[in-house]
Amino acid sequence: MRKLLAYTVALALFLSAAPVFAQSNVADKYRAGMIPRFLSYVTIGSMSDYDAEWMTPGQEEMANALYEEVKAFGFPTHFSADKYIYVNIPSNLKNRQAPVLGFSAHYDTTPDINGNGVKPQVIKNYDGKAITLKNNQVIDPAKDDYLQKMIGKTIVTSDGTTNLGADDKAGVTIVMTLLKTLAENPKMPHGPIQVVLTPNEDVGRSAERLELQYYKPDYAYDFDGGVDGEMVVANFSAYGVLVTAHGINGHQSYAADNGYRNSAKPIGDLIAAAAPSANLPNNSRGEQGYIEPHHIEYNQAENTHMVDFRLRYFDQEEGKRYINRIKHVADSLSQALNVAIDVQINKQYENVAYGVKPEAYDMLAKAMTDAGVKPDPKQERAGTTSAMIMAKHGFGGYTVFTGQRNPHAFIEWLSEEDMFKAYKVALNLVKQVAQMKVAK
Ligand SMILES: [Zn+2]
Repeated sequence: MRKLLAYTVALALFLSAAPVFAQSNVADKYRAGMIPRFLSYVTIGSMSDYDAEWMTPGQEEMANALYEEVKAFGFPTHFSADKYIYVNIPSNLKNRQAPVLGFSAHYDTTPDINGNGVKPQVIKNYDGKAITLKNNQVIDPAKDDYLQKMIGKTIVTSDGTTNLGADDKAGVTIVMTLLKTLAENPKMPHGPIQVVLTPNEDVGRSAERLELQYYKPDYAYDFDGGVDGEMVVANFSAYGVLVTAHGINGHQSYAADNGYRNSAKPIGDLIAAAAPSANLPNNSRGEQGYIEPHHIEYNQAENTHMVDFRLRYFDQEEGKRYINRIKHVADSLSQALNVAIDVQINKQYENVAYGVKPEAYDMLAKAMTDAGVKPDPKQERAGTTSAMIMAKHGFGGYTVFTGQRNPHAFIEWLSEEDMFKAYKVALNLVKQVAQMKVAK
């Protein structure tokens, strides 16, 4: 994946002679505060909504609470009209410039499962047995082998009637704990740091109203990944393609003379030609993409048929092939059947690998290793906030593990240890970037 990257390296590492700040002791001091902070966030229901114009009342409540906390840290903070919370921390390095390091997380939870009235349960010293929740929900180590690694550790679940919301309140907790650490340890050397907490990630809109004057770091790390060193270094590019065939009304029996045209036939033929079974999701795995006609609609009054295709791919050439094929088939059917056909193409998210600086990978891998975590790079067959930023603003970033497991489910749970380790990874990145300089 990294071979795809064609950015020039504008930044160079240099070895700092300065004594290393005793960071691990600092991190340990903040561990105990993370679970109470996490619990305070998950108990505020902040589901996003596909149909909302923008904010939901729950997200608004969450955003206001986070803004009050962030303000108290004393850094330059901007709470935008669209309820993004931005923190821009100036560098405290003397006599040199370091690159800008960015951290993001999202404070909404998915609309797909109830996230209101969350009653979190903290299980200390987990015994390795199945956990039975209300609503006949079972968190079962036989089905989730990562639970076996949690024996003796602390995990958090919901009571089974809601999701937990660790996606992404775990990420928010990590970022907020980092801000608290920086606020309380002003001598810890760091370059310029930008933080953004976003709404509406789970409805695919977290980058939509992002303001780049407050968030456009050289290195962006999004805390919204799973467990155990997961780093998402590539993800699907995603397009929605909406094709509408406009029939012509009239009596079909006299169509040869009255100009009546049916709108179903062109859509049927288009689906057959543009989305052959070899390219369907069920025939796609690994790095292969797919094209799927997932929704068809008929509007009787207007005599239109519409099909909505989902396109997903890692390889740009594969994506171009799908799009060109739809356009080409639509044109030829329009001529052959004498009906108007429109094609609307909407970019939803884009592979971050197209826009990440090459050294960002090694920086994250080292930050993990230094935190005692084995990096587990992954290509995600889905989108992330970074992927939405990439699609809209052209700069990419990696998604880092947070301790969240089984998101968007009643059996979602959180690993306290992984959440703490991810916070250490963030702190290690701060430390590394403080030792870099901007190359002239
Ligand atoms: Zn998430």
